[in-house]
Amino acid sequence: MTAEFSFTPGTTLPNGLGRSGVIHTPHGDIRTPAFVVVGTKATVKAVLPESVAGVGAQAVLANAYHLFLQPGPDIVDAAGGLGAFMNWPGPTFTDSGGFQVMSLGVGFKKVLAMDATGLADDDVIAAGKERLAHVDDDGVTFTSHLNGDRHRFTPEVSMRIQHELGADIMFAFDECTTLLNTRGYQERSLDRTQAWAARCLAEHHRLTEERAGKPYQALFGVVQGAQYEDLRRKAARDLAALEADGRGFDGYGIGGALEKENLGTIVGWVNSELPPEKPRHLLGISEPDDFFAAIEAGADTFDCVMPSRVGRNAAIYTLDGRFNVNTAASRRDFRPLDAECDCYTCANYTRAYLHHLFKAKEMLAATLATIHNERFTVRLVDDIRASIDAGRFAEFKAEFLARFYSARR
Ligand SMILES: [Zn+2]
Repeated sequence: MTAEFSFTPGTTLPNGLGRSGVIHTPHGDIRTPAFVVVGTKATVKAVLPESVAGVGAQAVLANAYHLFLQPGPDIVDAAGGLGAFMNWPGPTFTDSGGFQVMSLGVGFKKVLAMDATGLADDDVIAAGKERLAHVDDDGVTFTSHLNGDRHRFTPEVSMRIQHELGADIMFAFDECTTLLNTRGYQERSLDRTQAWAARCLAEHHRLTEERAGKPYQALFGVVQGAQYEDLRRKAARDLAALEADGRGFDGYGIGGALEKENLGTIVGWVNSELPPEKPRHLLGISEPDDFFAAIEAGADTFDCVMPSRVGRNAAIYTLDGRFNVNTAASRRDFRPLDAECDCYTCANYTRAYLHHLFKAKEMLAATLATIHNERFTVRLVDDIRASIDAGRFAEFKAEFLARFYSARR
């Protein structure tokens, strides 16, 4: 880590893994644990950056694959980087594009609790899907979902794109597998991801020198290994030991499909191998029980499209669980979405009004629902952080989960 990027651990839970802390970046600090709001194409869909700040978001994560295709990383670079381009003054993240690119190939979604029982065939995941990406030891060749153009990502290409995008935190290019891949494939894939990590680190240092004068961009290595304890632990140890020019990764990402019931266990294996003085990001979760499990197991930051995506489909998070505001129950309900929420939507609008907007297919429906769901999610993780610092994580976890999953409303 450098003077421009560092992590200061705060309070540690009695289990020695979960903790609070602060990530320092050139564009500001992130108090952790923290939920990072997703703005895939350099916009958090349907809301202004002022609203993203208004929901308490400390950072935004955009996607290298999408911005590579459109508008192109050179445009973002010329604009002064992702934050300047999208008018977001705070810290930014980009993911490597690997997950999106490889999703094209196998037609899988990052599904928690995927039932892999009885399935152990590397081909099954491609059945019935048009294969848009092919992975080899050097990289991935894929077809644009926008216009059918052929492209190739290698570790070096991903690093070049992410440097041009200019986010404060970037991720190494990795191969994403699914729970449906065989153990043998996971082993081969992990070797490939490890080799790519070394290439990413070397290219990252080269580009950092080449682009001297720009704000420092931190690079996180990504730990794969699916559901296997030995593979996950080895991957974490190998990445932690990896250095180029005497410098290692600035932090780590935990990737891959995770079975929901084993989420905390797997994150715990990884984090007990990683150096505690560096931050850890868990990619792609946002359900309340997953936050508690992952934070307890030592994850510091999270990102997920779900709060905004489900919000655009009228699904609303409340302290008493999730409900759909477009059903008849909300038609004459003049209460806010969540009486205990402090967001702009809940301060000014009713369930009946949201119900009307969704039925009328008005754009404001997406805006107001997104503001509420993002605020709910950001605040939950903020509250978990406060509970760690106050020494009452276990009590807060029990209270929150009992109420959220009690299926009342
Ligand atoms: Zn609200």
